[in-house]
Amino acid sequence: MRRFVFFSLAAVIIIFSVIVDGAAPEKKVAYITIDDGPTLNTPHIIDTLRKHGAGAAFFVLKDRIETYPDYIKMMDGSGFTVGLHGVSHNGDIYATPTSPLTEMNETNDALYKLLGRRSRVVRTPYGSKPNLTDRQRQLLETAGYKIFDWNVDPRDSIGAVVDRSAVLENLRSGLEEAGPTAVILLHDRKSTSEALDEILSIIEAAGYEFGTLDENTVF
Ligand SMILES: [Zn+2]
Repeated sequence: MRRFVFFSLAAVIIIFSVIVDGAAPEKKVAYITIDDGPTLNTPHIIDTLRKHGAGAAFFVLKDRIETYPDYIKMMDGSGFTVGLHGVSHNGDIYATPTSPLTEMNETNDALYKLLGRRSRVVRTPYGSKPNLTDRQRQLLETAGYKIFDWNVDPRDSIGAVVDRSAVLENLRSGLEEAGPTAVILLHDRKSTSEALDEILSIIEAAGYEFGTLDENTVF
């Protein structure tokens, strides 16, 4: 009888632990990405990220590296990644099979001049899909670049005046659709800088931890 009770108890414990295990929520990770900088808004963006213990990947433009070298150095701190966003930031980057690679290499040269090292992390303007051809993608990847798009777009950079409440609502619905891994597209501009504290709070309240996208990140 005692043995029966023991085995019954063991069985209940095993079944219970399987149920609890099965119900354990999947870890949710949010990767903040910030395009088009640096700008005069960068220091406030970095302060706000640090306040929330959030990392970020900054996809920077060549001319802005040269205009704001000190802000690039601020981005190069722990928990942040400096990635490449190119030179032209218009259709020119997609003009020829080699033009995306040429633009990223030029941007990387500017970064190397400043930091003494290069980046392998790339975001092409407006996203790689459908803009990059297979050949352009292949040339970038063969050169060692890792291309990252996003799956949450709060649309914080549409038009001259950005509707803050619409951005926050887009973020909330985007997170719901994204599931446990959210790569969030933001831009280095004043309106985003001012809303960032609230943006990060919404992400935290949705149960995400912050991760930093870098060359080792695999989705
Ligand atoms: Zn951009």
